[in-house]
Amino acid sequence: MNTFLLKASFVAVIVLFWQSAVSTEIIVRTQDQYEQAVSKAKPGDIIVLADGEWKDFEILFTGEGTAEKPIRLEAQTKGKVIVTGQSNLRIAGDYLEVSGLVFKDGYTPTGTVVSFRRNKDHLANYSRVTEIVIDNFNNPERRETEFWVLIYGKHNRFDHNALVGKRTKGVTMAVRLNSEASIENHHQIDHNYFGPRPILGSNGGETLRIGTSHYSLSNSYTVVENNYFDRCNGELEIISNKSGSNIIRGNVFYESRGTLTLRHGNDNIIEDNVFFGNGVDHTGGIRVINANQTIRNNYMEGLAGYRFGGALVVMNGVPNSPINRYHQVSNALIENNSLINSDHIQLAAGSDDERSATPVNSQFSKNIIFTKEQKKLFTIYDDVSGIEFTDNLLSGASDKELGVGFKSSKIKLKRAANGLMYPQNKKYASWGVSGDLNPIAKSQVGPNWYEKPGNADVFNTGKVIKVSNEEGELFAAVKNASAGDILELHSGNYTVSKILKIDKPLTIRSQKSKKSSIEVSFERSALFEIVDGGSLSLSGFEISGKDSPDSAGNAVIRTSGYSMLHNYRLIINNMKVSDLDINHSFNFINVAKNTVADSIDINNSIFSDVTGAILKLDKEIDDYGIYNAEYLNIANSHFSNIGGALVDFYRGGTDESTFGPHFSLTDSSLNNVGNDKRNKSKASIHLHGVQLTTIENNQFTDSPAIKLLHTVGEPRSTVIKNTFSNTPLPVVKELNSAKENTAIIRDNKVSKDNKNA
Ligand code: CA
Repeated sequence: MNTFLLKASFVAVIVLFWQSAVSTEIIVRTQDQYEQAVSKAKPGDIIVLADGEWKDFEILFTGEGTAEKPIRLEAQTKGKVIVTGQSNLRIAGDYLEVSGLVFKDGYTPTGTVVSFRRNKDHLANYSRVTEIVIDNFNNPERRETEFWVLIYGKHNRFDHNALVGKRTKGVTMAVRLNSEASIENHHQIDHNYFGPRPILGSNGGETLRIGTSHYSLSNSYTVVENNYFDRCNGELEIISNKSGSNIIRGNVFYESRGTLTLRHGNDNIIEDNVFFGNGVDHTGGIRVINANQTIRNNYMEGLAGYRFGGALVVMNGVPNSPINRYHQVSNALIENNSLINSDHIQLAAGSDDERSATPVNSQFSKNIIFTKEQKKLFTIYDDVSGIEFTDNLLSGASDKELGVGFKSSKIKLKRAANGLMYPQNKKYASWGVSGDLNPIAKSQVGPNWYEKPGNADVFNTGKVIKVSNEEGELFAAVKNASAGDILELHSGNYTVSKILKIDKPLTIRSQKSKKSSIEVSFERSALFEIVDGGSLSLSGFEISGKDSPDSAGNAVIRTSGYSMLHNYRLIINNMKVSDLDINHSFNFINVAKNTVADSIDINNSIFSDVTGAILKLDKEIDDYGIYNAEYLNIANSHFSNIGGALVDFYRGGTDESTFGPHFSLTDSSLNNVGNDKRNKSKASIHLHGVQLTTIENNQFTDSPAIKLLHTVGEPRSTVIKNTFSNTPLPVVKELNSAKENTAIIRDNKVSKDNKNA
């Protein structure tokens, strides 16, 4: 062999060696190029997706990396690879790593956006997804169940991601334990931003679930730490833990409605978590169920939730519970937690004929329970002698029955540099959370290139647009407006010949300067239709039904006939509405199925001569616990000659996963409301399954009774300080329970001419 050949073969060997040992980085610009790159990928290789939009891309990322040399799938520039349309990501194999992708403007054609498996037999292990964003990547049908992230396999990590705006049914993220290959998984979920998840209005709105009841006696060994849960309001459970030996540590829960629920599984550790409720309705803390749970060094401040949604809830269990019911609390250790200005601590909660197994062998010690006002904080539903209370510090609480184990002392708190409140007096330093607890900041989670959503009001954020009653001007102004704009009407009469579709938050009001007279009438079956993304605020003018078509079922405002992903808001202030009487069943507001209002507020308004109802919020009749509006508040308003009810509000079924609906009527009058023969409920106000009702300081005249139908939970209904003249007293019925009804009806005046009372 001559030296040249020798040299050449030597070089060839070097090149071969180099090719197999040194990783390659390949940039791909098409889905075909991507597939080829994946099929050839070796340990250490990096496949780079070119910046830009990748539409309808079902990414299957498979391969076998090694601990030292994972195979990576990266964005050319983090945050600049946008995956849209019918897209998703499946990862299967060992030591794979994905980073930098953004999923938006589309939804998954399967049930999952990011899955740590290809199929049932091919899972991901030792793999990582980091710095990805899933932003409002929702199926347009809000009741279609889908999941954003499902983790299977073992030893996977999900970190520094942002999941924002999940609006469909189905948990945002779940750890699955549904086979041997996925239990005892040792997954790590950390530094993620779980962004706002709006109220779903039914079960299936959890943000994170670990396990399911079926495998709940298996250990998961999942660690959930240093994540930030920002306004995760989907339903009663923010985190639903349904497996054993997990650690949930160092997370922050900011204004999130619901609780961290230890629903199934034993031996979990919940420590160093911080809950800031800021007094927001239904913000809760930790709910304890099952055996050997440790609840240590957690901080809860300003939590307003009650019942199962309280700041700290220890449940009763079911004796010999089936796997999907409530297992008895035993050997719980609850120590060194700080409960600051949080309204409700519930012990032996849920006690009833079925849930009769009280907590046993449990410890409750070294906790600080502080309240500014003299308040009763504890509700004790059953025998709690199985909880040993020792050396707790109680300040401000007026709970007299708490004896041994609670030292009552007036203490002063001071906010420390870490944002948490501690006793000023150093002698109390060993109570409550430790001084070195440092809650993770919003800025420390998620991808650092991703801007997190703020909490600005949706209304009045845009420009003011003046509108006159020239033909078509209002229609054009509504169509061309941007989100948050304010349309200001000149005085005059407006006849609207097309339905005004509201697809963004919009305010329509009279010019503030003059007390002008403005009347708006309309020639279609509705004046406004709120479609997906819309919200509407009306103030300072009159609406008349006098020009409406002569057919049944008109409405001033209706919601889209299609499923709406975005909850809407509606504000009616200082309005006058009349002559909705061209034909029968003319409603002020008529909603469609699969639409949810976050809130409807009516203030200082006058309604007269309406053949239908003021509000028809009664389209979810499947009894799945779904409903059409979370809050309905009416104040300082007057209703006369209304054929239907003021409101038909319906939430059916016995599901207990939600907080609403809420209804409030104060300082208002109803005169001849609900007497039309087509008013099926024969009620002036018809509330079916409403959870919180306040009817206070109103005047009812010549109207049928208020009907309150309690369906589930412990509904709170208060009817006080009203005057009923020629109007029967309210009728309350418990539909699913033989218990006496819980409504508070007192201090009402019944006038002498009240024949029906
Ligand atoms: Ca649930």
